[in-house]
Amino acid sequence: MTQLRRARVHVTGIVQGVGFRPFVFNLANDFGLVGWVRNDSAGLTAEIEGDGAFVSEFISALTLRPPPLAVIEDIGVTDLALRSEPEFRILHSEPGERSVPVSPDVATCDACAREILDTGDRRYGYAFTNCTDCGPRYTIVRDVPYDRSTTTMWKFAMCPACASEYADPTDRRFHAQPNACPECGPRLSLLDAAGEALGGDPVEGAARLLRAGAIVAVKGLGGYHLACDATSENAVARLRGRKHREERPFALMAPGIAEARELCAFGPEEELLLLSRRRPIVIARGGGGRVASSVAPGYGTLGVMLPYTPLHHLLLAVAGRALVMTSGNVSDEPIAFVDEDARARLSGIADAFLVHDRAIEVRCDDSVARVVAGRAQVIRRSRGYVPEPLRLPVRASVGIVATGAQLKNTVAVAKDGMCVPSHHIGDLENLETLQSFEHAIAHLTRLYDVDVGVIAHDLHPEYLSTKWAMEQSLERVPVQHHHAHVASCLAENSRTDPVIGVAFDGLGYGEDGTLWGGEFLIADLTGYRRAAHLDSVPMPGGEQAIRQPWRMAAVWLARAFGDEAPRTGRLADIPDERWRACLSMAAQGFNSPVTSSMGRLFDAVSAIAGVRNEVSYEAQAAIEFEEIAVSGPHRPYLFEYTERGGAWIVHPASCVREAAEDAIAGTSPGVISGRFHRGVARMIVEVCERLRDNGGPPVVALSGGVFQNVLLVETVVPWLQGAGFAVLTHSRVPVNDGGISLGQSAIAAALLARAGDGRR
Ligand code: ZN
Ligand code: ZN
Ligand code: FE
Repeated sequence: MTQLRRARVHVTGIVQGVGFRPFVFNLANDFGLVGWVRNDSAGLTAEIEGDGAFVSEFISALTLRPPPLAVIEDIGVTDLALRSEPEFRILHSEPGERSVPVSPDVATCDACAREILDTGDRRYGYAFTNCTDCGPRYTIVRDVPYDRSTTTMWKFAMCPACASEYADPTDRRFHAQPNACPECGPRLSLLDAAGEALGGDPVEGAARLLRAGAIVAVKGLGGYHLACDATSENAVARLRGRKHREERPFALMAPGIAEARELCAFGPEEELLLLSRRRPIVIARGGGGRVASSVAPGYGTLGVMLPYTPLHHLLLAVAGRALVMTSGNVSDEPIAFVDEDARARLSGIADAFLVHDRAIEVRCDDSVARVVAGRAQVIRRSRGYVPEPLRLPVRASVGIVATGAQLKNTVAVAKDGMCVPSHHIGDLENLETLQSFEHAIAHLTRLYDVDVGVIAHDLHPEYLSTKWAMEQSLERVPVQHHHAHVASCLAENSRTDPVIGVAFDGLGYGEDGTLWGGEFLIADLTGYRRAAHLDSVPMPGGEQAIRQPWRMAAVWLARAFGDEAPRTGRLADIPDERWRACLSMAAQGFNSPVTSSMGRLFDAVSAIAGVRNEVSYEAQAAIEFEEIAVSGPHRPYLFEYTERGGAWIVHPASCVREAAEDAIAGTSPGVISGRFHRGVARMIVEVCERLRDNGGPPVVALSGGVFQNVLLVETVVPWLQGAGFAVLTHSRVPVNDGGISLGQSAIAAALLARAGDGRR
């Protein structure tokens, strides 16, 4: 005799907008169970009733093979009294219920990609095709629960054909909230630079313009791209000129994997990333010669992505070649995503606009990832990743907002056991990014229903993110910048034990009021000790020293050689008066903040080697220095160590002297680079060994923007492992300041937990 059972199943995690309700519906019908399913505040609840064995099988199927896009945090099961309903139903979401994770945007699935190229399909050529397995999510969601009415699709009423797909549990579009077709959904148009509509098919028209060398602004998922023919030297150079001589590399979009392989020599892990539903820009070694040289001047790598919306598929198929697809902005401004604003800001750059009438709710840049030592590493975590939560190693007892850093800003919200880092907001240097910062905090707080009790922020008093935190009337947790770097590495590796945190970056505010950036912190989530650091020097001119690496070279050469410092490489081009003014400024400490930054040392040595005296964006010199490095068993440059007040001071003077002597002797900059990288790697191992000898932990965490340097990481990790250290690195959040908000959240959660323990 069969034993009947009724159970309530409660699922938390990313279970909305990923086809979970239809999945549950079909599963219940497969097992002949009755009951219901609905989205609720914390995820999804189902009640099922029927043969007890089938109820158990239903639960294990839910656990073992959930829909591909779902991320289950937890499944709770409670037994209930029997109710004997006639069927299984999908119920509407409870009104007023909030807080459920929404999935990131998902690249067009294969089935949808086939439909838009199939002349017999009713969605042939339709640029907004999607289904429960793919399509826009985070960038269109305005509120939760995730339903069509809470997305920017609310104003498009479904036609009968779409409505019946939406209502049919056996259809691929059952409850696909952004479901649409050419009859009822969003439409494309092609406008000229003045905003006048151009006739004909918009995609054909845009592709024709692109092939003729024009620059077309394309409205995408999270913002506007500026597109042009990547193979045309003229088009790319014109785009660069109109974007105000910006020197950063441009990202490319290839029509398909075959064309992508012609651009770069992708390894298997890189192809997996490229083809993943997140569709990041993947940085890889370029194959050379296939694209205009001005796409990535000075770089041996290219950033390539594949089409991730139906519009991209259609446009790239007609264009038939790789396109530059760079963010739609002027130099450092944030990417445009509101139509009127985009037209105003991009009208001097774009010759035409390929636009549509579906609003973008959240600006979301393309994510950037790459593979380092066989492991995927996200460098910019944005579209396709956000708002996926990460697990916190310590539960947050109250809601936390972390405001991040100043450059490459992300914010984060945290509650319970999870932290949600925001999309890439950018450099908080203007009103627009500040508004975007505030919108991100408000949006994530609302989506995840976070009752904010604490704000975690950087120590730097001039960061706009710090100033914003100061204005809120809530408890604050100030977090030292490099401690946050180390904590972000701990958090993404689910660690709470003490480590030697090596935090090397451009600059971060130290607790002593100087600018840190070459730090060895013995740290866990609740605190740190500055156990060793790079010797401090003045940064003559402050910010100017970041744009002009020759200034840091002048300071370090004076340290290494005294008054008779040689001027190597291109440093001889700096007029004598400027050189002397710079040094006397440093000597007097006038407008010369003191820094222990490793990023600035990279700048200095690259200038000494002759790479460049000035840069157009931060770390450009260091990146080019890495690019030119000649590999080989070069003798590493030496660092020296002294002890002061219980901390080791790392002195690069001898390293600088050797680099200058090499340059004078005519050694190639590539070899100088190789020797310097190996010198820094050896220094890291030596300092960590000293710290371990003095009772420090045998685990090293590497964090901070300097570790975006692949050569350094691939050199130092095996050396550290060879010396018996376990090494933690970043993979899921950026190693740069984009990871700071996660670190701040983890530290705040850990401090709150410790304070809670103290009270008990
Ligand atoms: Zn699809
Ligand atoms: Zn329709
Ligand atoms: Fe930093």
